[in-house]
Amino acid sequence: MHRPVPDHRGPELPELLSEIVPGLKKIFQTTRGEIVLFPVSGTGGLESSIVNTLSAGDLVLAFNIGHFSHAYAETARSFGMQVDEVELPWGQGVPADLVHDRLIRDTARNYKAILVVHNETSTGVTSDVRAVREAINAAHHPALLLVDTVSSLASIEFLFDEWSVDVAVTGTQKGLMLPPGMAVVCAGPRAIAASGQVNTPRFFFDWRPVLDEMKRGYFPFTPATLMLYGLREAVRMLLEEGLPAVFGRHRKLAEGVRRAVRAWNLPILCRNAAEYSNSLTAVELPEGIDADKVLQLAQEELNLSLGGGLGQLKGRVIRIGHLGALNELEVLAMIAGTEMALQMVGIRIVPGMGVQACEEWFMQEHLAGRRVGSSR
Ligand code: PLP
Repeated sequence: MHRPVPDHRGPELPELLSEIVPGLKKIFQTTRGEIVLFPVSGTGGLESSIVNTLSAGDLVLAFNIGHFSHAYAETARSFGMQVDEVELPWGQGVPADLVHDRLIRDTARNYKAILVVHNETSTGVTSDVRAVREAINAAHHPALLLVDTVSSLASIEFLFDEWSVDVAVTGTQKGLMLPPGMAVVCAGPRAIAASGQVNTPRFFFDWRPVLDEMKRGYFPFTPATLMLYGLREAVRMLLEEGLPAVFGRHRKLAEGVRRAVRAWNLPILCRNAAEYSNSLTAVELPEGIDADKVLQLAQEELNLSLGGGLGQLKGRVIRIGHLGALNELEVLAMIAGTEMALQMVGIRIVPGMGVQACEEWFMQEHLAGRRVGSSR
Protein backbone atom coordinates (compact mmCIF):
# COMPACT_ATOMS: atom_id res chain seq x y z
CA MET A 1 0.00 0.00 0.00
CA HIS A 2 2.96 2.27 0.58
CA ARG A 3 3.57 3.26 -3.02
CA PRO A 4 2.85 6.11 -5.43
CA VAL A 5 -0.88 6.60 -5.94
CA PRO A 6 -1.95 5.11 -9.28
CA ASP A 7 -4.32 6.80 -11.73
CA HIS A 8 -7.73 5.38 -10.86
CA ARG A 9 -8.61 5.44 -14.55
CA GLY A 10 -5.29 3.89 -15.53
CA PRO A 11 -4.30 0.32 -16.41
CA GLU A 12 -3.51 -0.74 -12.83
CA LEU A 13 -7.16 -0.82 -11.79
CA PRO A 14 -8.48 -3.64 -14.02
CA GLU A 15 -5.39 -5.65 -13.13
CA LEU A 16 -6.07 -5.23 -9.42
CA LEU A 17 -9.77 -6.02 -9.68
CA SER A 18 -9.14 -9.09 -11.83
CA GLU A 19 -7.47 -10.68 -8.81
CA ILE A 20 -9.42 -9.05 -5.96
CA VAL A 21 -12.94 -9.86 -7.18
CA PRO A 22 -12.47 -13.62 -7.75
CA GLY A 23 -10.45 -13.81 -4.53
CA LEU A 24 -13.21 -12.16 -2.51
CA LYS A 25 -15.77 -14.50 -4.05
CA LYS A 26 -13.70 -17.42 -2.79
CA ILE A 27 -13.62 -15.84 0.67
CA PHE A 28 -17.42 -15.36 0.69
CA GLN A 29 -17.58 -18.92 -0.69
CA THR A 30 -19.78 -17.93 -3.57
CA THR A 31 -20.05 -18.31 -7.30
CA ARG A 32 -23.45 -16.63 -7.60
CA GLY A 33 -22.74 -13.47 -5.60
CA GLU A 34 -21.31 -10.26 -7.10
CA ILE A 35 -18.76 -8.08 -5.32
CA VAL A 36 -19.42 -4.36 -4.85
CA LEU A 37 -16.72 -2.19 -3.25
CA PHE A 38 -17.25 1.24 -1.68
CA PRO A 39 -14.61 3.58 -0.20
CA VAL A 40 -16.49 3.78 3.13
CA SER A 41 -16.50 1.93 6.44
CA GLY A 42 -18.74 -1.08 7.05
CA THR A 43 -21.70 1.13 8.02
CA GLY A 44 -21.87 2.48 4.48
CA GLY A 45 -21.86 -1.03 3.01
CA LEU A 46 -24.70 -1.98 5.37
CA GLU A 47 -26.65 1.12 4.33
CA SER A 48 -26.20 0.05 0.69
CA SER A 49 -27.70 -3.36 1.52
CA ILE A 50 -30.86 -1.64 2.77
CA VAL A 51 -31.35 1.03 0.10
CA ASN A 52 -30.79 -1.40 -2.78
CA THR A 53 -33.16 -4.14 -1.62
CA LEU A 54 -36.01 -2.39 0.20
CA SER A 55 -38.53 0.42 -0.31
CA ALA A 56 -40.04 2.72 2.32
CA GLY A 57 -42.93 0.94 4.04
CA ASP A 58 -41.50 -2.56 3.50
CA LEU A 59 -41.65 -4.80 6.56
CA VAL A 60 -38.32 -6.05 7.89
CA LEU A 61 -37.62 -8.60 10.63
CA ALA A 62 -34.68 -7.84 12.93
CA PHE A 63 -33.37 -9.04 16.30
CA ASN A 64 -31.88 -6.69 18.84
CA ILE A 65 -29.10 -8.82 20.35
CA GLY A 66 -26.48 -6.10 20.63
CA HIS A 67 -25.31 -2.67 19.51
CA PHE A 68 -24.64 -3.59 15.88
CA SER A 69 -27.80 -5.59 15.30
CA HIS A 70 -29.81 -2.65 16.66
CA ALA A 71 -27.83 -0.26 14.42
CA TYR A 72 -28.67 -2.39 11.37
CA ALA A 73 -32.37 -2.24 12.29
CA GLU A 74 -32.07 1.53 12.78
CA THR A 75 -30.53 1.88 9.32
CA ALA A 76 -33.64 0.33 7.78
CA ARG A 77 -35.94 2.39 10.02
CA SER A 78 -34.23 5.62 9.00
CA PHE A 79 -35.14 4.93 5.35
CA GLY A 80 -38.80 4.47 6.23
CA MET A 81 -38.94 0.69 6.40
CA GLN A 82 -41.20 -0.80 9.07
CA VAL A 83 -38.90 -2.74 11.33
CA ASP A 84 -40.24 -5.51 13.53
CA GLU A 85 -37.30 -5.56 15.93
CA VAL A 86 -37.47 -8.42 18.42
CA GLU A 87 -35.81 -7.37 21.70
CA LEU A 88 -33.66 -10.09 23.26
CA PRO A 89 -31.10 -10.18 26.08
CA TRP A 90 -27.66 -9.09 24.90
CA GLY A 91 -25.36 -12.11 25.08
CA GLN A 92 -27.34 -14.53 22.94
CA GLY A 93 -27.61 -15.15 19.22
CA VAL A 94 -30.55 -14.93 16.83
CA PRO A 95 -32.81 -17.89 17.79
CA ALA A 96 -33.64 -19.77 14.58
CA ASP A 97 -36.87 -21.13 16.11
CA LEU A 98 -38.04 -17.56 16.71
CA VAL A 99 -37.28 -16.71 13.08
CA HIS A 100 -39.36 -19.71 12.06
CA ASP A 101 -42.16 -18.74 14.42
CA ARG A 102 -42.37 -15.16 13.10
CA LEU A 103 -42.26 -16.24 9.48
CA ILE A 104 -44.84 -18.98 9.80
CA ARG A 105 -47.26 -16.47 11.33
CA ASP A 106 -46.65 -14.07 8.44
CA THR A 107 -49.20 -15.78 6.20
CA ALA A 108 -49.48 -12.70 3.96
CA ARG A 109 -45.70 -12.89 3.34
CA ASN A 110 -45.23 -9.27 4.35
CA TYR A 111 -41.65 -9.53 5.60
CA LYS A 112 -39.40 -8.45 2.75
CA ALA A 113 -36.06 -9.02 4.52
CA ILE A 114 -34.50 -10.49 7.63
CA LEU A 115 -31.48 -8.72 9.09
CA VAL A 116 -28.88 -10.80 10.89
CA VAL A 117 -25.50 -9.82 12.31
CA HIS A 118 -23.41 -12.97 11.94
CA ASN A 119 -20.96 -12.03 14.68
CA GLU A 120 -22.28 -9.44 17.13
CA THR A 121 -19.12 -7.50 17.99
CA SER A 122 -20.62 -5.79 21.02
CA THR A 123 -21.31 -9.08 22.83
CA GLY A 124 -18.98 -11.68 21.28
CA VAL A 125 -21.81 -13.89 20.05
CA THR A 126 -21.95 -15.70 16.71
CA SER A 127 -25.41 -16.45 15.37
CA ASP A 128 -26.08 -19.63 13.45
CA VAL A 129 -26.85 -18.24 9.98
CA ARG A 130 -27.21 -21.75 8.56
CA ALA A 131 -29.98 -22.45 11.10
CA VAL A 132 -31.64 -19.11 10.25
CA ARG A 133 -31.63 -20.07 6.55
CA GLU A 134 -33.11 -23.48 7.41
CA ALA A 135 -35.83 -21.76 9.44
CA ILE A 136 -36.66 -19.47 6.49
CA ASN A 137 -36.80 -22.48 4.15
CA ALA A 138 -38.91 -24.49 6.57
CA ALA A 139 -41.42 -21.62 6.66
CA HIS A 140 -41.28 -21.41 2.83
CA HIS A 141 -40.84 -17.66 3.20
CA PRO A 142 -39.50 -15.51 0.34
CA ALA A 143 -37.87 -12.79 2.52
CA LEU A 144 -34.32 -11.78 1.61
CA LEU A 145 -31.57 -12.70 4.08
CA LEU A 146 -29.24 -9.74 4.69
CA VAL A 147 -26.19 -10.52 6.81
CA ASP A 148 -23.68 -8.23 8.50
CA THR A 149 -20.37 -10.13 8.32
CA VAL A 150 -18.20 -7.20 9.46
CA SER A 151 -16.49 -9.13 12.26
CA SER A 152 -16.89 -12.65 10.90
CA LEU A 153 -15.74 -12.75 7.29
CA ALA A 154 -12.32 -14.36 6.94
CA SER A 155 -12.30 -15.27 10.66
CA ILE A 156 -15.38 -17.45 11.19
CA GLU A 157 -16.79 -19.80 8.57
CA PHE A 158 -19.32 -18.05 6.36
CA LEU A 159 -20.92 -19.79 3.37
CA PHE A 160 -22.73 -17.31 1.14
CA ASP A 161 -23.98 -19.86 -1.40
CA GLU A 162 -24.63 -22.81 0.86
CA TRP A 163 -26.67 -20.68 3.24
CA SER A 164 -28.44 -18.90 0.37
CA VAL A 165 -27.54 -15.50 1.75
CA ASP A 166 -28.82 -12.61 -0.37
CA VAL A 167 -26.44 -9.87 0.80
CA ALA A 168 -23.35 -10.01 3.02
CA VAL A 169 -21.37 -6.94 4.03
CA THR A 170 -17.97 -6.53 5.62
CA GLY A 171 -15.35 -3.85 6.22
CA THR A 172 -11.64 -4.09 5.50
CA GLN A 173 -10.47 -3.54 9.09
CA LYS A 174 -11.23 -6.92 10.66
CA GLY A 175 -10.73 -10.36 9.12
CA LEU A 176 -9.33 -8.75 5.98
CA MET A 177 -6.49 -7.38 8.13
CA LEU A 178 -6.40 -3.90 6.58
CA PRO A 179 -6.91 -0.37 7.85
CA PRO A 180 -10.53 0.83 7.91
CA GLY A 181 -11.81 2.59 4.82
CA MET A 182 -13.46 0.15 2.47
CA ALA A 183 -16.76 -1.76 2.57
CA VAL A 184 -17.02 -5.07 0.75
CA VAL A 185 -20.50 -6.14 -0.31
CA CYS A 186 -21.44 -9.51 -1.76
CA ALA A 187 -24.86 -9.36 -3.42
CA GLY A 188 -26.75 -12.40 -4.71
CA PRO A 189 -29.03 -12.50 -7.77
CA ARG A 190 -32.29 -11.85 -5.89
CA ALA A 191 -30.79 -8.82 -4.16
CA ILE A 192 -29.40 -7.46 -7.42
CA ALA A 193 -32.79 -7.93 -9.06
CA ALA A 194 -34.38 -6.03 -6.16
CA SER A 195 -31.99 -3.11 -6.69
CA GLY A 196 -33.73 -2.48 -10.03
CA GLN A 197 -37.19 -2.59 -8.49
CA VAL A 198 -37.08 -0.73 -5.17
CA ASN A 199 -37.69 3.01 -5.05
CA THR A 200 -35.45 4.11 -2.18
CA PRO A 201 -33.47 7.19 -3.24
CA ARG A 202 -29.75 6.47 -3.59
CA PHE A 203 -26.90 7.78 -5.67
CA PHE A 204 -23.46 6.97 -4.27
CA PHE A 205 -24.76 3.72 -2.77
CA ASP A 206 -26.58 2.56 -5.89
CA TRP A 207 -25.07 -0.86 -6.66
CA ARG A 208 -26.01 -0.80 -10.35
CA PRO A 209 -23.46 1.72 -11.72
CA VAL A 210 -20.76 0.20 -9.47
CA LEU A 211 -21.46 -3.31 -10.78
CA ASP A 212 -21.38 -2.02 -14.36
CA GLU A 213 -18.09 -0.18 -13.92
CA MET A 214 -16.43 -2.92 -11.90
CA LYS A 215 -17.04 -5.35 -14.76
CA ARG A 216 -14.68 -3.14 -16.78
CA GLY A 217 -12.23 -2.87 -13.89
CA TYR A 218 -13.18 0.64 -12.80
CA PHE A 219 -15.54 2.54 -10.48
CA PRO A 220 -18.07 5.36 -11.01
CA PHE A 221 -16.30 7.31 -8.22
CA THR A 222 -12.68 7.65 -7.07
CA PRO A 223 -11.93 4.38 -5.25
CA ALA A 224 -9.56 4.01 -2.31
CA THR A 225 -6.77 3.03 -4.71
CA LEU A 226 -4.06 2.21 -2.18
CA MET A 227 -6.50 0.13 -0.17
CA LEU A 228 -7.01 -1.98 -3.29
CA TYR A 229 -3.33 -2.96 -3.17
CA GLY A 230 -3.78 -3.92 0.47
CA LEU A 231 -6.93 -5.85 -0.36
CA ARG A 232 -5.16 -7.81 -3.09
CA GLU A 233 -2.44 -8.75 -0.61
CA ALA A 234 -4.98 -9.68 2.08
CA VAL A 235 -6.82 -11.94 -0.36
CA ARG A 236 -3.53 -13.58 -1.34
CA MET A 237 -2.57 -14.14 2.29
CA LEU A 238 -5.94 -15.67 3.20
CA LEU A 239 -6.04 -17.98 0.20
CA GLU A 240 -2.41 -18.98 0.68
CA GLU A 241 -3.09 -19.97 4.29
CA GLY A 242 -6.37 -21.57 3.16
CA LEU A 243 -9.78 -20.76 4.62
CA PRO A 244 -10.05 -23.95 6.75
CA ALA A 245 -6.67 -23.10 8.31
CA VAL A 246 -7.71 -19.46 8.85
CA PHE A 247 -10.90 -20.56 10.65
CA GLY A 248 -8.97 -23.21 12.59
CA ARG A 249 -6.41 -20.63 13.71
CA HIS A 250 -9.17 -18.31 14.94
CA ARG A 251 -10.91 -21.20 16.72
CA LYS A 252 -7.71 -22.16 18.49
CA LEU A 253 -6.66 -18.63 19.47
CA ALA A 254 -10.20 -17.82 20.69
CA GLU A 255 -10.28 -20.92 22.87
CA GLY A 256 -6.94 -19.88 24.39
CA VAL A 257 -8.46 -16.50 25.30
CA ARG A 258 -11.56 -18.12 26.79
CA ARG A 259 -9.44 -20.45 28.92
CA ALA A 260 -7.54 -17.43 30.24
CA VAL A 261 -10.81 -15.68 31.10
CA ARG A 262 -12.01 -18.76 32.98
CA ALA A 263 -8.71 -18.90 34.85
CA TRP A 264 -9.35 -15.32 35.97
CA ASN A 265 -12.73 -16.52 37.24
CA LEU A 266 -14.59 -13.92 35.21
CA PRO A 267 -17.77 -14.70 33.25
CA ILE A 268 -17.83 -14.66 29.46
CA LEU A 269 -20.86 -12.59 28.42
CA CYS A 270 -21.89 -15.19 25.81
CA ARG A 271 -23.45 -17.96 27.88
CA ASN A 272 -24.00 -20.56 25.17
CA ALA A 273 -20.73 -22.24 24.19
CA ALA A 274 -22.17 -23.07 20.75
CA GLU A 275 -22.42 -19.31 20.12
CA TYR A 276 -18.96 -18.29 21.33
CA SER A 277 -17.35 -15.87 18.93
CA ASN A 278 -13.97 -16.85 17.56
CA SER A 279 -13.17 -13.24 16.67
CA LEU A 280 -13.69 -11.56 20.04
CA THR A 281 -14.62 -12.30 23.65
CA ALA A 282 -16.66 -9.98 25.87
CA VAL A 283 -15.82 -10.42 29.56
CA GLU A 284 -18.10 -9.26 32.37
CA LEU A 285 -16.40 -7.48 35.24
CA PRO A 286 -17.49 -7.65 38.90
CA GLU A 287 -20.04 -5.12 40.22
CA GLY A 288 -18.39 -1.89 41.25
CA ILE A 289 -15.50 -2.15 38.80
CA ASP A 290 -15.58 0.34 35.95
CA ALA A 291 -14.59 -1.63 32.85
CA ASP A 292 -13.62 1.58 31.06
CA LYS A 293 -10.93 2.12 33.69
CA VAL A 294 -9.36 -1.20 32.64
CA LEU A 295 -9.23 0.03 29.04
CA GLN A 296 -7.72 3.32 30.10
CA LEU A 297 -4.98 1.68 32.17
CA ALA A 298 -4.26 -0.94 29.53
CA GLN A 299 -3.81 1.86 27.00
CA GLU A 300 -1.83 4.26 29.16
CA GLU A 301 0.35 1.84 31.08
CA LEU A 302 0.79 -1.00 28.63
CA ASN A 303 0.01 0.44 25.20
CA LEU A 304 -2.59 -2.32 24.89
CA SER A 305 -5.82 -1.57 23.12
CA LEU A 306 -8.89 -3.39 24.48
CA GLY A 307 -12.53 -2.85 23.52
CA GLY A 308 -15.12 -1.39 25.88
CA GLY A 309 -18.80 -2.00 26.43
CA LEU A 310 -21.15 -0.45 23.89
CA GLY A 311 -24.68 0.81 24.60
CA GLN A 312 -26.24 -0.92 27.62
CA LEU A 313 -22.93 -2.74 28.28
CA LYS A 314 -20.93 0.46 28.75
CA GLY A 315 -18.65 0.20 31.78
CA ARG A 316 -19.69 -3.43 32.42
CA VAL A 317 -17.56 -5.45 30.01
CA ILE A 318 -14.20 -5.44 28.32
CA ARG A 319 -13.93 -6.88 24.83
CA ILE A 320 -10.83 -8.76 23.77
CA GLY A 321 -10.35 -8.88 20.02
CA HIS A 322 -8.65 -11.95 18.54
CA LEU A 323 -9.12 -11.78 14.80
CA GLY A 324 -7.18 -11.07 11.68
CA ALA A 325 -3.39 -11.23 11.42
CA LEU A 326 -2.75 -12.85 14.79
CA ASN A 327 -0.71 -15.70 16.23
CA GLU A 328 -0.15 -17.52 19.51
CA LEU A 329 2.59 -15.26 20.89
CA GLU A 330 0.57 -12.13 20.21
CA VAL A 331 -2.38 -13.66 22.05
CA LEU A 332 -0.20 -14.66 25.02
CA ALA A 333 1.23 -11.13 25.25
CA MET A 334 -2.26 -9.65 25.06
CA ILE A 335 -3.50 -12.02 27.80
CA ALA A 336 -0.54 -11.00 29.98
CA GLY A 337 -1.33 -7.32 29.43
CA THR A 338 -5.04 -7.82 30.09
CA GLU A 339 -4.43 -9.64 33.35
CA MET A 340 -2.08 -6.88 34.44
CA ALA A 341 -4.70 -4.21 33.67
CA LEU A 342 -7.35 -6.23 35.55
CA GLN A 343 -5.08 -6.38 38.59
CA MET A 344 -4.48 -2.63 38.33
CA VAL A 345 -8.19 -1.97 38.97
CA GLY A 346 -8.16 -4.29 41.97
CA ILE A 347 -9.38 -7.59 40.54
CA ARG A 348 -7.64 -10.42 42.36
CA ILE A 349 -5.77 -12.54 39.88
CA VAL A 350 -2.66 -14.59 40.56
CA PRO A 351 -0.19 -13.18 38.01
CA GLY A 352 0.27 -15.52 35.08
CA MET A 353 -2.87 -17.62 35.61
CA GLY A 354 -4.47 -16.57 32.34
CA VAL A 355 -1.21 -16.89 30.45
CA GLN A 356 -0.70 -20.37 31.87
CA ALA A 357 -4.18 -21.57 30.94
CA CYS A 358 -3.82 -20.16 27.45
CA GLU A 359 -0.33 -21.53 26.93
CA GLU A 360 -1.36 -24.97 28.19
CA TRP A 361 -4.14 -25.02 25.62
CA PHE A 362 -1.77 -24.00 22.82
CA MET A 363 0.67 -26.74 23.85
CA GLN A 364 -2.15 -29.28 24.02
CA GLU A 365 -3.18 -28.31 20.51
CA HIS A 366 0.42 -28.43 19.36
CA LEU A 367 0.83 -31.95 20.71
CA ALA A 368 -2.41 -32.93 19.02
CA GLY A 369 -0.79 -31.76 15.79
CA ARG A 370 -3.01 -28.77 15.18
CA ARG A 371 -0.33 -26.17 14.63
CA VAL A 372 -1.42 -22.55 14.12
CA GLY A 373 -1.14 -22.15 10.38
CA SER A 374 0.55 -18.79 10.30
CA SER A 375 3.20 -16.87 12.14
CA ARG A 376 2.20 -13.54 10.59
N1 PLP B 1 -21.35 -4.26 12.26
C1 PLP B 1 -20.49 -4.90 13.06
C2 PLP B 1 -20.79 -6.30 13.48
C3 PLP B 1 -19.33 -4.25 13.49
O1 PLP B 1 -18.47 -4.88 14.30
C4 PLP B 1 -19.08 -2.92 13.07
C5 PLP B 1 -17.88 -2.22 13.53
O2 PLP B 1 -17.15 -2.67 14.34
C6 PLP B 1 -20.00 -2.32 12.23
C7 PLP B 1 -21.13 -3.02 11.84
C8 PLP B 1 -19.79 -0.94 11.73
O3 PLP B 1 -18.73 -0.94 10.85
P1 PLP B 1 -17.82 0.34 10.64
O4 PLP B 1 -17.37 0.78 11.99
O5 PLP B 1 -16.72 -0.16 9.75
O6 PLP B 1 -18.67 1.37 9.96
